[in-house]
Amino acid sequence: MTTNENKFQEIISHAKEYGFVFPSSEIYDGLSAVYDYGPYGSELKKNIRDYWWKSMTQMHENIVGIDAAIFMHPTTWKASGHVDNFSDPMIDNRDSNKRYRVDHLIEGLADKLKEAGKTKEADDLIAEMDRLLAADDFSALKELIAANNIVCSISGTGNWTDIRQFNLMFSTQLGSVAEEADTIYLRPETAQGIFVNFLNVQKTSRMRIPFGIAQTGKAFRNEIVARQFIFRMREFEQMEMQFFVRPGTEGDWYKYWKEARLQWHLSLGTSPEKYRYHDHVKLAHYAKEACDIEFEFPIGFKEVEGIHSRSDFDLSQHQLYSKKKMQYFDNDVDPATGKPFGNYIPYVVETSIGLDRMFLLILSESYEEETLTKEDGSTDKRVVLHIPAKIAPVKLAILPLVKKDGLPEIAREIMNDCKPHFRCFYEEKDAIGKRYRRQDAIGTPFCVTIDHQTKEDQTVTIRYRDSMQQERVPLSTVRDVVLKNIS
Ligand code: ATP
Repeated sequence: MTTNENKFQEIISHAKEYGFVFPSSEIYDGLSAVYDYGPYGSELKKNIRDYWWKSMTQMHENIVGIDAAIFMHPTTWKASGHVDNFSDPMIDNRDSNKRYRVDHLIEGLADKLKEAGKTKEADDLIAEMDRLLAADDFSALKELIAANNIVCSISGTGNWTDIRQFNLMFSTQLGSVAEEADTIYLRPETAQGIFVNFLNVQKTSRMRIPFGIAQTGKAFRNEIVARQFIFRMREFEQMEMQFFVRPGTEGDWYKYWKEARLQWHLSLGTSPEKYRYHDHVKLAHYAKEACDIEFEFPIGFKEVEGIHSRSDFDLSQHQLYSKKKMQYFDNDVDPATGKPFGNYIPYVVETSIGLDRMFLLILSESYEEETLTKEDGSTDKRVVLHIPAKIAPVKLAILPLVKKDGLPEIAREIMNDCKPHFRCFYEEKDAIGKRYRRQDAIGTPFCVTIDHQTKEDQTVTIRYRDSMQQERVPLSTVRDVVLKNIS
């Protein structure tokens, strides 16, 4: 195991131990690639969601939000292409009955080659795989797997079935009697809820192009290779924004959003060198440009967000299938003709980020196991989450030094003063050092300690998580110190 893989495992254990993420229905041994968020996890997740929502809707006057249902009319998914095309090529091992995504199987070998220093062989293998995937040449892909002696990690054999497409959508029945019921799908992305509501939103909010519609919500994909903690889940949450523009302006808007989204990530203080763009070479037939924002997770550089220039594909498809006009009347004057631009189906630039992946990004970036040298020269360890203060699950811990002498009463007053404004945590048990460590482990940026001096001069000790520095401040300023740092 490499050091980074160790770090990944440490993060997973830490997330569970401190109430961030639990395996779903764990008492029944869990459910593969499905996770629950615990008390601190759900706070952090909500804070990331709110931060995204605010930056999209509150900070952009021309972006409004919606909250569409997870269930949608089944024709939606026919029109969007998901029924026919939302699939991955899969292969099964006959001895273990284990199913693999073909690209992941081949990439696994490429990773091993790279580790062994055979970078050229690895790159050639990936290039050949990409070429065959683009051509949908499944028999040649199977030959590639055989020629490279790729075997199943469980059975150890190369006894493979043919490659088949496997649709990633979950289906279920709507209605009480199964035979009469219609098959419907759990949405595999939130974007279609935005497209089908395009005119409702445009008209009711009187939006004029260019404008955006933002949405956060659950999406479901029957992922086959799902063993990377919350990086790839079967039930996850997306934060998507579709930006509707006049045809011909999409190139500029694509550039704008590509840059703006990276800036959003950096506004959380994340190291710029851990980010990179991956421009797509192989584009969907309707796409004009597409890129991923990738982050260096402990498991390597991986996609966290996609920015896609999608032309008028989605709205045109819904117009075709629903027979309802998806057009916008643009009465701005076209300088070329001196007449209004008139009716058209808008083009779309979309930004799509996984909330759970963003959560994992924050954990990966903020997790640190520090070795501290004490005054006597001995060393100690502390695990700290350097979560940006504005999204930390708890902003302030309020800790009376002892449980008596009127200190808890003063602490409670601070608690009452602060808790309407931000999330606080009160604790009077255990030695103060131990309490600090627990707050470090959940990423609380500030702790205040109330001691006997507080009774005399109305000051408290404020301790900063990252530097562990402590300073004496008037207790009346505590609320503002925290507010200043989280705004
Ligand atoms: P990948 O190539 O990793 O499967 P994708 O290109 O299919 O992702 P999109 O369809 O563009 O992803 O979805 C947008 C975002 O939703 C992704 O950038 C990712 O952050 C998130 N996402 C997609 N699938 C999952 C999943 N199974 N679990 C968690 N997040 C996901």
